[in-house]
Amino acid sequence: MRVCIHSNSHDVLSSPVSIVTGGAGFLGSHLCDRLLSEGHSVVALDNLLTGNMDNIAHLAANEKFRFIKQDVTEYLFYEGPVDFIFHFASPASPIDYLEFPIPTLKVGALGTHNALGLARSKKARFVLASTSEVYGDPLVHPQTEDYWGNVNPIGPRGVYDEAKRFAEAITFAYHRSHNVDTKIVRIFNTYGPRMRLKDGRVVPAFIGQALQGEPLTVFGDGTQTRSFCYVSDLIDGIYRLATSKEHGPINIGNPTEMTVKQFAEAILRITDSRNPIVFKPLPVDDPKQRRPDISRARQLLGWEPKVKLDEGLEKTIAYFRGRIGSTR
Ligand code: UDP
Repeated sequence: MRVCIHSNSHDVLSSPVSIVTGGAGFLGSHLCDRLLSEGHSVVALDNLLTGNMDNIAHLAANEKFRFIKQDVTEYLFYEGPVDFIFHFASPASPIDYLEFPIPTLKVGALGTHNALGLARSKKARFVLASTSEVYGDPLVHPQTEDYWGNVNPIGPRGVYDEAKRFAEAITFAYHRSHNVDTKIVRIFNTYGPRMRLKDGRVVPAFIGQALQGEPLTVFGDGTQTRSFCYVSDLIDGIYRLATSKEHGPINIGNPTEMTVKQFAEAILRITDSRNPIVFKPLPVDDPKQRRPDISRARQLLGWEPKVKLDEGLEKTIAYFRGRIGSTR
């Protein structure tokens, strides 16, 4: 189906116009907030497969913001001028992309192609939300951008990992062949308000369990590592990349690494909970270690994370306290 998106009279001539695909998602909605605060007019596109209108409800009255329910795997056309396209649409939690394997592949492949085509026709800057999953179960640690990764293409996570690897490839092809000003950010584990309580990722899972008196479910023996970045830090890195001359890929994440078991203990400490930890089977192809090397972001963008884990978790826990009992 051909979908035409018409610009609105609210578009303010002098302000940059940004389109955010996945604009009702966790990261997309925070990005919309940041762009609006920088004076952009923002058009958020989302098919609401894993995004939610609650995340952008506070923007409904903002005349520089517009939401359009749109599946970006379908042909995209926007009538007015566009300065930036941020392609953030995708299921992003392991249980989501296991539940929606084909939409995950399609949004990474067809959705990226459509968003790049729109960027080309508008001469807009294009920012791709890529992921640490392009490194798979990494054999290089910490992960630098020039590491090519260790991905199982036919494993259950392959639908996400390979879609994002394809997305990076086609993004660079549009840069090289069509001279589109593209940027690729490789996003490492990020947390904060607006994650879905039940999205299966470790941060909402452990916080939800701690607050509801349930055991914390550590997968495997809990020695696998992750490095958690608070959402405001991540969005700042993305904004800096978008407004820089760099093309990336650039890792954005917090290099403070811990085991999943240590993370469970941190959640118990901060929530003042005595719930037990129980061990469950490790999901297939679960990466054993993950930590971004952020030297490039430091050197090229002057960026590094500022929010300490306890501070970020306290804000996130406060958000989830308000959502306990919600169905999503
Ligand atoms: N994990 C866990 N218990 C849970 C959910 C996740 O131990 O209830 C582990 C998961 O196996 C992985 C890590 O926490 O090693 C981070 O998982 P998440 O789903 O947040 O994202 P990933 O980093 O794997 O993409």
